[in-house]
This record gives sequence, structure tokens and C-alpha cells, in this order.
Amino acid sequence: MDERIANLSQRKKGEGEDVPEAITLPLEIRVHGRGGQGGVTCAKLIAAVYAQLGLNVQTFGDYGAERSGAPVRAFTRVDREIIKNRNKVYRPDHLLVLDPGLLGPSLLDGVTGGASLLINSTAPPENLKKQFPGYRLGVVDATSIAREHGIGTSAVVIINTTVVGAYAALIGLPMEAVRQAYAFFRLEDDFEAALEASRKITVFTPSKQSAQQNVDAGGPASVGSVLPMTEHLRDIPTELKTGAWATQSPSYQEYGAPCSIACPAGNDVVGFIQALKDEGVEKAAELLMKTQALPGVCGRVCPAPCMTACNRDFFDGPVNIRSLERWIADNENLKIMPENDPQPHKFAVVGSGPAGLSCAFHLALSGQRVTLYEKSEKLGGVLRNGIPAYRLPEDVLDRDISRILKLGVETVCAAVVGKKELERLSRDNDAVIVCKGLGAPFAIGAAGEELEGVLQGLEYLASCREEKQHPSLTGTVVVIGGGNTAIDCARTALRSGASSVKLVYRRSREEMPAIQEEIEEAAREGVQILTQRQPVAFIGDTVVHGIVVAEVEPGETEEDGRHRPVVTDRTMEISCETVLLALGQRQDMELLPGGWKIENGRAVRENTPLNVWFAGDCLTGDGTVAHAIGNGRRTALAALAACSGKKIIEEKSYKSTVAPAHIRFSHFPVIQPHRDRHRQVPSWKNDFEEVNLGLPGPGEAERCFSCGRCTSCDTCLVYCPEGIIFRDGVGYSIDQEYCKGCGICVAECPRRAMEMIEK
Ligand code: FAD
Repeated sequence: MDERIANLSQRKKGEGEDVPEAITLPLEIRVHGRGGQGGVTCAKLIAAVYAQLGLNVQTFGDYGAERSGAPVRAFTRVDREIIKNRNKVYRPDHLLVLDPGLLGPSLLDGVTGGASLLINSTAPPENLKKQFPGYRLGVVDATSIAREHGIGTSAVVIINTTVVGAYAALIGLPMEAVRQAYAFFRLEDDFEAALEASRKITVFTPSKQSAQQNVDAGGPASVGSVLPMTEHLRDIPTELKTGAWATQSPSYQEYGAPCSIACPAGNDVVGFIQALKDEGVEKAAELLMKTQALPGVCGRVCPAPCMTACNRDFFDGPVNIRSLERWIADNENLKIMPENDPQPHKFAVVGSGPAGLSCAFHLALSGQRVTLYEKSEKLGGVLRNGIPAYRLPEDVLDRDISRILKLGVETVCAAVVGKKELERLSRDNDAVIVCKGLGAPFAIGAAGEELEGVLQGLEYLASCREEKQHPSLTGTVVVIGGGNTAIDCARTALRSGASSVKLVYRRSREEMPAIQEEIEEAAREGVQILTQRQPVAFIGDTVVHGIVVAEVEPGETEEDGRHRPVVTDRTMEISCETVLLALGQRQDMELLPGGWKIENGRAVRENTPLNVWFAGDCLTGDGTVAHAIGNGRRTALAALAACSGKKIIEEKSYKSTVAPAHIRFSHFPVIQPHRDRHRQVPSWKNDFEEVNLGLPGPGEAERCFSCGRCTSCDTCLVYCPEGIIFRDGVGYSIDQEYCKGCGICVAECPRRAMEMIEK
């Protein structure tokens, strides 16, 4: 397990286990400093260290608009129990003095015998020992240490982080907890100074006799002089319920993470990543497969709009979500079972591409009887006969499909469903869902298209995968098109023996619809990409030996934001032995019986809805696996709802989305993304092994901001100036009776998991 994940879970388990024996709880700490020294942060840091040990904490400053140099006090309380005392600390067990100039007569007000004192001073420690007999005393020259480490500026040295290191040594707190607290506040760079202070502190332990004298004397100053109210005693909650002052109060909310919202399959991205971090791979897989029937496939070939939307992209690079999905799929060992007992409804699904497989998966999961009809010999659609094995290995696809079949889905392969069969299936089943994919590929309409050697790219790819023989090619191969099919044809041609491969596309490289990483991979493997060129003729008598391409200029911007290609009369010839056409496919509905229409994805005859639905590319033309999976699932649920009369299960909807401006970037350490490993081979010829090897482990999950969802990170608890936020199981509770509605917890929440709401 990743070290940070391990630390986190260890902390959550070990509630208060690492508390040094010398500490008696409840514990009250007072920090004396001057404005500008960071005394309030010092108290917060100490609170964070104790929070790391699993204890409840409360911390706040006692200052208004003090100018730099004015005396400032700050307080921290620590307890195993919920802290209800909201007063200032009048009887500190630990006293920290950041500035020796504050060592005046009232400094020790309320400090009782047996207390621990930490003083930042350059004075000889022995002198201070004489001044403060009977206390456990620590003396450290934190100012010099902080200055040496360059903390603050040469004019104003900030000593708080250095002092906390000395404090940890004085009290016996684990430095690991200090390190984690600094990481929490993004102060990792100051940790070395803290370590040095922990080594350089001089500690005096009082003799039993002098300590007892102190106790008997009740401390050098009397408490009475500073206590204006009787309630100012430890652990007696104030009667003044300040919550009545608030007009609004904080509450924990779940907002839409942009990754989850962008996922066409409807995956709960933040959910499965957090589950991977906190609960392990099986739980993550369970959550992922609530929406995702083919995680091994999608974890490899998805264009990952979730990553484009990821808020971390505005910080240090998007989370590698696609490869985390792949890692889960490749490492899970879930036994997926139908969620219900066998149900009475019978479903037929036509087509076994991602849309059909997703339909079948969700219907079978809910206990329905499902039969999958497929025209080819094998299941998978484009996943089997289009996408090449070096991107999507056969065994990965088989594993995803077998998980679906194990739910009891029956299959009929080599079965072409035509108009008549569709009518029959409609009669014999409660519902039919047609997921037949796209139809015939487009032709280019240029002279010589019929020449030998001019091939349809899809057929070429299918023959490569079906026979696993990868028909050999020689010489130069020209691929025409800019989508995934074109890139797959180009990279497959390289592997099948072509000496050079040129890809001709009529728009710019940025406008190519293929997945960007795939375009980069193709270029890396040696595919030459010629943009702004349109083939206008094929050269040859019976066999093609070249093409004529015209230069294209960008015309006006079209609806989809791309430029209309304007073909010029400036042409050039490219010699070649083979041309592969990859110009896309048409959406056809040839299997629709006469009199049937499709309205909102459902077949209608004479204005009467039928029990036949359509899903995937044949309906939407969206053209990605994730869209097909999402549309397949939603259609299956709609058909199920129509059959059972039960309301369709609503997808999660959010009040609003978490934007980059909502994220407190300063709370997160910079961690560069974990990139996929790739095979490095000198030549791709005859090599159809998988190129991308994915991530070595799940550590990338640690980078997820968890936008819009509480991770129990304790920021609200540590920052609450009233100390009225408490751990409550995995989450928190807020004592509204004392919450003044200041909103600091909401402002500090790193991930917009809290909001102020009207009272
Ligand atoms: P299909 O996958 O086309 O499946 C339809 C199935 O229905 C087929 O198995 C077909 O044989 C069967 N069928 C058709 N007619 C009948 C009938 N009459 N009777 C019975 N069965 C029938 N998308 C990505 O997200 N990432 C990629 O990297 C990617 N690469 C691609 C590479 C290529 C070469 C191609 C062509 C597409 C690629 N796509 C990619 C797009 C993606 O594969 C499709 O959007 C997706 O497969 C559509 O799924 P579908 O289930 O709707 O249709």
C-alpha cells in the first residue's frame, strides 16, 4: 500500500494510541508570542500534531487587529473526549513563550506546579532554570535555527514551526506526527528546522522537591487575579450558547466532481478512487461496476473526458483516472452475483458491442433472463473486430465479457437479426434492445477508388483480428482519415510490414477526432501525419500505385468548432502500394420493419410505443466505448422500468459542480502524475503485444482531490476556532449550540465538501 494511504488508515485506527505517557488528558496549552511571529499558527500546528494522534483538539487565538510586535496569545486544548469548554486557557499545562521579551510577571498567570514550559531564548539555559525552578523546562534558540533554515525573511524570522519541533521533544511527541502535521499545512520545508530544534533543545526536569514546592505554592502567580468569571474553570462548559448568534451554519455536502460529471458511462469516479485508497481494490471494483460493465476495456481505450475535466489539471496535472480504472479491473477478484432472485422478464439484446454487453450486464445483474444475439462468431463488436490487440488484448476483453456471461446471460452467435427476426424477438420477449452499432463505411467518391489495393480500413482491421494473421503489406501505405480507425489502420500497417505509413487528413492535427495519446503514439512509432490535405484521385490502371492530394485551407468555423475544409487546386502526388480508407461509417436502421419509427430511442408503430429500444452508436453515433456503455445501461434500465412498471433508478444529481476556484490548492502537496509505463521495442514489425503497460500500482489514487466529497481530512476540525467540530464515526458532527457561523471551516475545506446554509 502507498505509504501515505498506510499512514492515513493507521491514524484513523489508532485513536490516541501514540499519546506519550507523560501527558495527562485533558491538556491545555497556551502560547505567548508577538504579532508576526506566527504564534496562532504555532498553536494550530500543535493541535494538528495531537489530531494526528487521533485526539480531539480545539485551537484559537486571542487577538484582534494587533499590529506586528504586539503581544499575542493562542490556545490549544486536547482531549480524548469531546471538548466542551470554549473559554480561553487560564490554567495551562504547557506554556510556550516565543519571545523572551514576554517573560514578565504575568506570564505565568494560572500556570500551576508540574506544568511544562518551553522558552525560545538565546540566554544561557542554566539562567532560565534558576528563574523557573520547579517546572519541566525546555530552552531552545529557535530564532537562530529558523534563520539558518531561511524561514521567514531576513527581517522577520518566523519561528513557529521550529518551536513545535522543540515542543515535541520536550513532551515526547513522535516526530512522525509532526512531519504529518506539517504536510497537512503544506509546511514540509520547515520540518528540517523542527528536527534540528528537537535535537538542540535543553531540557531540565525539576527535582520532586522543587516541583512539590511549586504545587504547594499554587504557582508563582495567583489564578484569581485573571479570572473574571467563575465559569473560567477547566472542563465546565460555558452557559452562554453562542450558536444563537449565527444566521447561517456549516454543513457537510456532496457536490459534483467534474470527472464524474464528464464520464459518459456515468461512473462515480471520485467514489471508486476514494474506495481504492481507503477500502481496497475489491470495494473499488464493486463501486465501479455499478455503472461500468467493461472496466478492463474502458481502462485502456477510453478517451477519458474525466481526465480532461479533472480539477488537478489546474495544479500539477490531471489524475491518471483511466489507468486507475485499468489497475482495478486487472487486479480485482470480485464474485459478481445477480442482485435479485430470478425475475419474470425476458429480454433480447441484439449486438454484442459495448452497448449490448452493458445492457446485458445490467439486466442480468437485476436478475432478468437475457439472450444476446450477435451477427459475428464472437462477442465484442468493435472491441473484437476493430480495436487492435496491441491496444486491447484479447484476454482482457474475454475477462470482461466472461464476468457478464457468468451472470447467466445466454448468447446466440452467428445470428443476423433482420426485420422479420426483430418482429419475432419483439413477440417472444418482454423487451428487445437493439445495439447493432454503425453501418457501412463511407466511400471517398474520388476517381480510382475501385482500384485494387484501395481497401476499407475497417475490413482490413477486422481481417487482422479475426485471422490473427495480420495480412502482410509492403511498401508505402497511405491511410486516409483522422479518427481512431485511421490511427489504428496506420499503426497496424506498420506492424504488418509496411516500409512507411503516411496518414492524410483534411483538417489540422488538433482537429483530428482520434484520441490524442493515440495520435502521439502513432507519430512516435513512425507514422507520418500529413494534415490539411484531401485525396482527390487514385493513380493506377488496375492496381493503385499512388494518390493525388489537394491542399486544404481552413474555411469558416462550423457548428462543432472545427473549420470547414476548403479544397484548393494545389495538388501533389504520393506514391504508394496500398490505400486504407478510414472515413467513418453511416448510421443505418435497415433492420427496422416497415411502419416502425424511432422516437426517443424507442420503436413506435402508428404512434404506439413498442417493446423495442435502441442503444449505442446505432442510435446516438457518439462514437466512443464509454458513451456506448452508458447509453446501454440507461436504455436497459428504461426498458426494465417499462416492463416492471417500477420507477427507473435515478442517477445521482448534484446541486452544483466543483470548479477549480473551489479547491484550496495550498492544502495539497505537488505530486507529479504517475504516468503509464510503455514497452520500448526497436521495431514494431509483427509485434501486436500490448504497448501501454499501465500503472505499477494504485498510488496515483493518492493524488485525487476528492472534489466535493469529505475525506475526513480533519481540516475543518483543526481550523474551527470554537473547537465545536467533532469526529463522529467516519465523518464529523458540529455542535450547533456553540457554532457562531463564522464559516472558517467552509472556507478552509480543501475540496468543497462543506457549505454554509441558512439557519
Ligand atoms: P459496436 O461495437 O459496433 O457493436 C455492434 C455489434 O452489433 C457488433 O458486434 C455487430 O456485429 C452486431 N450487429 C450488427 N448488426 C447486427 C444484426 N443485424 N444482428 C446481430 N448482430 C448485429 N472508441 C473509444 O472510446 N476508444 C477507442 O479507442 C476507439 N477506437 C476505435 C477503433 C476503431 C477501429 C473503431 C471502428 C471504433 C473505435 N471506437 C473507439 C469507437 C467505439 O468502438 C464504438 O463507439 C463502440 O464500439 C460502439 O459500440 P456499439 O455497441 O454501439 O457498437
